Amino acid sequence: MKVVTIGSGYVGLITGACFADLGNDVTLIDIDDKKISMINNGETPIHENGLKELMKKINITATTSYNPIADADVVFIAVGTPSNDDGSIDLKYIRSAAEAIGKHIEKYTVITVKSTVIPGTTDEVSEIIEKVSGKKLGQDFGLCMNPEFLREGNAISDFMNPDRVVIGQHDDRSGEVLKELYKSFECPVMFTDIRTAEMIKYVSNVFLAAKVSLSNEVANICELIGSDVRDVMKGVGLDRRISPYFLNAGAGFGGSCFPKDVMAIISLAEKMGYEPGMMKHIVRTNDVQPFRMIKLLKKRMRDLEGRDISVMGLAFKPGTDDIREAPALKVINSLLEHGANVAVYDPEAMENVRQIYGDKIIFAENIEKAIEGKDATLFLTEWKEFKEMDISLFKTMRRPLVVDGRRIFDPELIKKEVEYEAIGYGR
Ligand code: NAD
Repeated sequence: MKVVTIGSGYVGLITGACFADLGNDVTLIDIDDKKISMINNGETPIHENGLKELMKKINITATTSYNPIADADVVFIAVGTPSNDDGSIDLKYIRSAAEAIGKHIEKYTVITVKSTVIPGTTDEVSEIIEKVSGKKLGQDFGLCMNPEFLREGNAISDFMNPDRVVIGQHDDRSGEVLKELYKSFECPVMFTDIRTAEMIKYVSNVFLAAKVSLSNEVANICELIGSDVRDVMKGVGLDRRISPYFLNAGAGFGGSCFPKDVMAIISLAEKMGYEPGMMKHIVRTNDVQPFRMIKLLKKRMRDLEGRDISVMGLAFKPGTDDIREAPALKVINSLLEHGANVAVYDPEAMENVRQIYGDKIIFAENIEKAIEGKDATLFLTEWKEFKEMDISLFKTMRRPLVVDGRRIFDPELIKKEVEYEAIGYGR
């Protein structure tokens, strides 16, 4: 099939690359010409496991021109849907993509929204296309909403082996085209109406965010009662009704999806006159969780002024260079406000963080340089590199004080080497 993706970020690029790998003729469109020329040069504009290798294997075209829409069987809209200041989603990229489709669509094409959008948005996309093109939905073009559930860091394998594919369809003809595109997928494929598909994506993220926030709250209580949240949640997760996933307590969730998506659905509910109290609490718990790191640090070190402190791990999770809403940024800001000197290290996200802080913080070349001579080291991302590091390195610190925000280390082992505090560890 001829597939076009509008937007070549995390979702658009992975969608395009994976469908190309499955034998489709894929063109990626983006307004960012730097991204486009990187892709055409065989480089990857994002860090994602296995993506470099996949790009070498497939044949894919990338362009800033919308002309390939005219010839496409399916056009995916995978542009960003960032938050407005009030938490609602900003639909300007979606609308401009819809206008571009309206101007370029020629034959029957199934327009498919893959971006995460609040219920009602996909209908608006089709209205824009009808207005700009003069074509009629159902007759001249098809419409689907096909939410994406991939996780950054595991994006390719998540895309190729999802738990389910959800296809919100305007009509059977539209859905049949996507069914054909996904025919080699072995997971359940659920067909539904468009608003239900839009809602399924939000509720999935709200649910996962709720599991994390609840685990974080349990962690804070475990510290007070002298127990370990890891053991508590292990016992809880063995219950099949709950499942063991997303029960890892830590310094809070970040990334481009959970914070934005929970806020967007809260904002939608409020606009419709409903008070989503439980969802609001998920956000409140998460907003303050990164500051537990400072609280734990201050348990051992009252005054942070003039102290040399390293922050290890900047990406919101391992396997990505994405720092959107990363808890590490809140921790760095708080340390700077306390007058501490901050050094940072991350295997992938240094350049993104440099763009925010410039020379306000020190960017260490490696783990050794980051921790040497420091008064405390805080861990904010559970990179494999940290899990495998030689803990005797902490001896090079001025004061070997470690605050573990991701439960990277075995408390029993590390406590022999350093002063150790960790989220949810009350023993
Ligand atoms: P991103 O910011 O990485 O990529 C979006 C791309 O769209 C950018 O490259 C931008 O230049 C491009 N763009 C914007 N307007 C355009 C236009 N009119 N024409 C062509 N290109 C345009 O965003 P992302 O992380 O890929 O997210 C895309 C959507 O998918 C969002 O709605 C997000 O919520 C959702 N989503 C993201 C993830 C994830 O893990 N990142 C997972 C599931 C769903």
